[in-house]
Amino acid sequence: MDTIYLDNNATTMTAPEVLQEMLPYFSELYGNPSSMHSFGGQVAEKIREARAKVAKLIGADPGEILFTSCGTESDSTAVMAALNAYPEKKHIVTTKVEHPAIKSLVEHLGTKGYRTTFVPVDSKGDLDLEFLYGSLDDDTAIVSIMWANNETGTIFPIEEIAAQVKKRGIVFHTDAVQAVGKIPIDMANSSVDMLSISGHKLHGPKGVGALYIRKGTKFSPLLVGGHQEKGRRAGTENTASIIGLGKAAELAAKNMAKENLQVAALRDRLEKGLLERIPNARINGNPDSRLPNTTNISFEYVEGEAILLMMNELGICASSGSACTSGSLEPSHVLRAMGVPFTCAHGSIRFSLSIYNTQEEIDFVVEKLPPVIQRLRDMSPFWADRPQ
Ligand code: PLP
Repeated sequence: MDTIYLDNNATTMTAPEVLQEMLPYFSELYGNPSSMHSFGGQVAEKIREARAKVAKLIGADPGEILFTSCGTESDSTAVMAALNAYPEKKHIVTTKVEHPAIKSLVEHLGTKGYRTTFVPVDSKGDLDLEFLYGSLDDDTAIVSIMWANNETGTIFPIEEIAAQVKKRGIVFHTDAVQAVGKIPIDMANSSVDMLSISGHKLHGPKGVGALYIRKGTKFSPLLVGGHQEKGRRAGTENTASIIGLGKAAELAAKNMAKENLQVAALRDRLEKGLLERIPNARINGNPDSRLPNTTNISFEYVEGEAILLMMNELGICASSGSACTSGSLEPSHVLRAMGVPFTCAHGSIRFSLSIYNTQEEIDFVVEKLPPVIQRLRDMSPFWADRPQ
């Protein structure tokens, strides 16, 4: 049975071009980029190229790109750098719908003497901006808000928010892990101070990320030791993966506009097909401001986990929330924050597509999923007892 992979917000396939670019750095080109000899120097040159490619994708200067091990490390580095830069300030602002990479970190810091504010969202997943701006004060060290939500795909007005936050002289960080490579981003015309990237979300490899740090931003490293990354992150570079991320960024910059049209058309076909065939189904998130590859659909009165298991039997991979929160039977914190009714939140499935999906795959899902939902509903006492 072929796999139909609709879980690209969890991770993406490494693009074949990316893998090709990486392979020599696992074998013959194994030099250490910090070495004095040219055997290592040629690797350092490739890392320079990769930095320039990542910078180009987001309209940054190569010197503003720091390579890390993942999106989570980029997020932690940014938040801790701001807190270290302004030790007298003890207030952190974020949202109720962040990925655990920020949410759990800020909750943890809340137990260590920091005051924390989690900005609420409305039923479409849009941020309460008045609440956000009203929460800022002289004690606020950093505002960290994701660019696009990993579960619903909702895109926040990050440029507008960053400008308002900067007017008050506060550091602004965005977790753009789901946005980079999917929507245009231009740091040259932006108030964002720091921005997180993860390689494996844009058809690069796992185990590599990047943090954009605007020139002039006060910074201190998370990892202290060697002088790598100009002293901003100690540890021998993950050379092959950094070079792979560079290639992935180059491909995204070149193909994004064309690929987005293709992916959004497939996503819309899937959404329309399912909503036409399945009663009591609804989209979660803001359809007018959404990543082109993501749809989150609630199938009322069924358990998301049961749907996932039955889809798995058919070779269809999707998700009922963030990969980092699955394993828990609680409805997702994102849908709860949006006030999605319990009967819907439990049966929510995130489909996240990529350029490697085909129309045949989408049509297969549209054909096979409705009877699965009906079978599960036939077994559910909640479906039988639903208000008519
Ligand atoms: N932030 C967001 C919005 C994500 O979706 C993810 C991964 O799902 C992360 C951060 C964490 O990235 P990584 O897996 O590279 O640590």
